[in-house]
Amino acid sequence: DLSNAIVAQDEMGRPFIIVKDQGNKKRQHGIDAKKSHILAARSIASIIKTSLGPRGLDKILISPDGDITITNDGATILSQIQLDNEIAKLLVQLSKAQDDEIGDGTTGVVVLASALLDQSLELIEKGIHPIKIANGFDEAAKLAINKLESSADDIGDEAQFDQFLFKAARTSLGSKIVSKEHDKFAQMAVDAVKAVMDKERKDVDFDLIRLQGRVGGAIKDSTLINGVILDKDFSHPQMPKCIDAAKLGKNDIKLAILTCPFEPPKPKTKHKLDISSVEEYEKLQNYEQDKFKEMIKYVKDAGADVVICQWGFDDEANHLLLQNELPAVRWVGGQELEQIAIATNGRIVPRFQDLSKDKLGSCSKIYEMEFGTTKDRMLVIEQTEKSKTVTCFLRGSNKMIVDEAQRALHDSLCVVRNLVKDSRIVYGGGAAEVTMSLAVSEEADKQRGIDQYAFRAFSQALDTVPMTLAENSGLDPIETLSLLKSKQIKENVSIIGVDCLGKGTNDMKELFVVDPFIGKKQQILLATQLCRMILKIDNVIISGKDEY
Ligand code: ADP
Repeated sequence: DLSNAIVAQDEMGRPFIIVKDQGNKKRQHGIDAKKSHILAARSIASIIKTSLGPRGLDKILISPDGDITITNDGATILSQIQLDNEIAKLLVQLSKAQDDEIGDGTTGVVVLASALLDQSLELIEKGIHPIKIANGFDEAAKLAINKLESSADDIGDEAQFDQFLFKAARTSLGSKIVSKEHDKFAQMAVDAVKAVMDKERKDVDFDLIRLQGRVGGAIKDSTLINGVILDKDFSHPQMPKCIDAAKLGKNDIKLAILTCPFEPPKPKTKHKLDISSVEEYEKLQNYEQDKFKEMIKYVKDAGADVVICQWGFDDEANHLLLQNELPAVRWVGGQELEQIAIATNGRIVPRFQDLSKDKLGSCSKIYEMEFGTTKDRMLVIEQTEKSKTVTCFLRGSNKMIVDEAQRALHDSLCVVRNLVKDSRIVYGGGAAEVTMSLAVSEEADKQRGIDQYAFRAFSQALDTVPMTLAENSGLDPIETLSLLKSKQIKENVSIIGVDCLGKGTNDMKELFVVDPFIGKKQQILLATQLCRMILKIDNVIISGKDEY
């Protein structure tokens, strides 16, 4: 039994995957335990292998409560499969680790790790001790990474670095749902990273790039906004729809960002409020009016043009704000308030008395954005040149598409960020893997001891990547692999990869199919590390479940 995952259907006809749990059977020891771990890992890999590459397939995931996700992203697929097997969970974490550090290559890392595990199973069956295998893999990984590094090209000094960034971002989108709009998305990724990047430190703070999706419209309506977007509108329909510093002849628009409510403090009395005459009522009303006016005066005196409020306010306050030409936004959530503060360089002010000029945020334009025929409106706060926060505003006809567009854009943002940090690239379509595989197998031939087996196995595991890409693109895997190898040896280059899209060439440089060097390196490191770890486990004890 090679795979212990089965696809079943529930009574509603929804598919789900059962990974049979070995933990419940019996505690397993030694070689048996390792074998069963590896088989568990293999079943996971077989699920996501088919989504590798530009011709990879999407998966539909249905959660127990019926939520649907359509994705091609390895980390997402794995994070949604419910697993009982502890080893299989390690693979999930592996893909998450790649996602956290690099953000791209989450499918590839699992394909590689499971290929390494497959190879080690064969070696174990040959009678080689798991620790020996683990150590051999370690050595092989070092060699592979050295080779990878020496075959990497640095594009940092190229005059058209931006153009390269764009192309790399586009490659990463090739397999995604947004691939029809990949030019637009790639440009968005490049623009977003460039807007927030720290040029000197070559660093990109992802907290400054917000991804915000909204159902409606088409993917092509997605845009990059220099600032923040709120799911809000101005509190009064007669307030202006757009306040633009340029049109007003000002440098900027000042925002008061408030966490105090626009309502008069309740009269402090322990007794019942007794209003028994018209005068008393008027007194109370005047008191309220005075309080409102005082608040508005504080805001005006500080020099604010617009008020952003965490709380709501009643019609009367709203009317007064309108009268005093103070456009306001109410019910802004705490998190959004913080984003506004960061984007506009303002401070969140808890009391009207604390308002002052230096605490106001500034923006260049604040306006309501309308969506085609719907009544939907959102508020855009465009920042001045000094501050940097951008929002990638993603549209799509349904939630699944918006979510997947968000994941795809995240991947390409990561690719661009990685290249800004380290501008070395390696070639994709399995080209880099073939180069490493050749180097490792060459070394295997030189070795005399047991290590030669581990090296050879490692090289074969690397071959799995181009083979899987070929298979997913409808090409013959073995034929393709030998073609790539012979071409790479003959021409002594590492730019020959799988022509997944049938472009008629294997030259990945020409097709500009590239991956950041650090991403590929991380894949090798993480996959080897995981395999090593599993090889060293020979006992799984699941607390509470096992019989001792
Ligand atoms: P991952 O989640 O690992 O990034 P993808 O499904 O995005 O997986 O596939 C990435 C792989 O596909 C990489 O090995 C990349 O080099 C390869 N690839 C992407 N675009 C192309 C292309 N146009 N031609 C050949 N290979 C490609």
